[in-house]
Amino acid sequence: MRGQHRSANAGGGFGNTLVRQGLLLPEPERRRRAVRLRSGEASAGEATELALGRIDAVDDSVRAFLHIDREGARARARSLDRQPRHRRGPLFGLPVAVKDNIAVRSWLSTSGSALLRGYRAPYDATVVERLRGAGAVLLGTTNLDEFGMGSATTRGFHGPSRNPADPQRVAGGSSGGSAAAVAAGTAHAALGTDTGGSVRQPAAHCGVFGIRPTYGRVSRYGVTAYASSFDQVGCLASDLTDLGRVLGAVAGLDPRDATSAARDVPDFAAAAGRPALPRTIAACGENDLAVLDPASQEAFAAVIRRFEQRGVIVRRVELPDTETAVAAYYLLACAEASSNLARFDGMRYGQPEAGGLRLEAAFRETRTRGLGREVRRRILAGATVLSRGYRDSIYRASTEIRKRIARELLGLFGERELLLLPITCGPPRLLDEPPPRAQEYRSDRFTILASLAALPAISLPAGESRGLPFGVELMAPPWGEEALFSAAAAFVEAA
Ligand code: GLN
Repeated sequence: MRGQHRSANAGGGFGNTLVRQGLLLPEPERRRRAVRLRSGEASAGEATELALGRIDAVDDSVRAFLHIDREGARARARSLDRQPRHRRGPLFGLPVAVKDNIAVRSWLSTSGSALLRGYRAPYDATVVERLRGAGAVLLGTTNLDEFGMGSATTRGFHGPSRNPADPQRVAGGSSGGSAAAVAAGTAHAALGTDTGGSVRQPAAHCGVFGIRPTYGRVSRYGVTAYASSFDQVGCLASDLTDLGRVLGAVAGLDPRDATSAARDVPDFAAAAGRPALPRTIAACGENDLAVLDPASQEAFAAVIRRFEQRGVIVRRVELPDTETAVAAYYLLACAEASSNLARFDGMRYGQPEAGGLRLEAAFRETRTRGLGREVRRRILAGATVLSRGYRDSIYRASTEIRKRIARELLGLFGERELLLLPITCGPPRLLDEPPPRAQEYRSDRFTILASLAALPAISLPAGESRGLPFGVELMAPPWGEEALFSAAAAFVEAA
């Protein structure tokens, strides 16, 4: 476990320079590794050794991982390789990393918070149990913003992760460790969580695929709650088929999570193998794009041309008011967080003997010392929003706004249409140039829409902007993930 924030030792340069520096594993090589494992050419042991070798080579610079279980991974790979072929699961031998707010039995699990230092998860989250069942090899846990609150993976108590495409820059957040691990080739795939964009945004910044499924598609049992009406587990991978397989493995009804839905789980990997574009796509129009920096506007225009060259009719639409959406999202998320995080009272979680804070400290001291500034701010804001006097004027009003935005957003979809949006307003920022808080919140304006409306959205790597990875998101009506996979596959083909 890395306990300390380690100081910066950034290298310089963009895009290709960084490939030369070796932090980013070039995409063709990542794809080659994915295909070799799937075809049975590579054993679980070989895939695991390659991943561990990459971790040894680059993770001191990338800092995607918080906890690495080398022995566990090797033992698991050995036992998988002994299985007869016909017994092999759909994720056979796949080296997967898990965001540190998802419980993995007996592993340290901190959610990026000092308050949980030394805490070991006593059980597996449902998604982890399902990864194991499908034959994955669990490598370790990945870095995040404390309790998932952030957009850059700079606010965890372990210090920031770095973008493998440029280690002076953020990886995006809050699942930045997961995205950076996939981009660096230290994991084939990873789980993240997405409350307001935390899978899609780091995926875009690191140049990998990421999906936020429909709310209810995946169980949240064993996932540290941030804002329960938004939280979803999502998946990241550099290979679309792997992404589909991982989502397929973890999705589906779970009696232990009342919000998980009793829906059939389609074969997402098969959908990724059937490239298909809708006849028309609704794309966010000029007014909404004005907040993007010029290079991102150009990169977004190039994405539209790529769809048009494939014969898709791109129809411009105006999004629901994203300023209002940001306000509603943050008010609701803080309100839910203030209630969810009340359990971290210094009595129930964390182990004093391992450096955690418990018992000896009063509630106040535990939370002041254990929780970071941003988390405390949000708890206070949330408690205020829920208090008498504000409940109707702010909390209820925000839930009404949420419903209206969801209606407006759904209203933008024509028959069998998908919606195309940017993910971020610009390239990943420099680590040492944090924006003012209000600007940071506003930079979530595009990704929070799917979260407010409980829609599935996939983040697609779409080339570069100013030499750094650029991504866009495709959104579908509820339960439309298959269409997203097929469209993503067609988009990749068109590159
Ligand atoms: N940046 C958003 C927030 O801080 C979203 C984070 C997330 O999806 N976990 O709330």
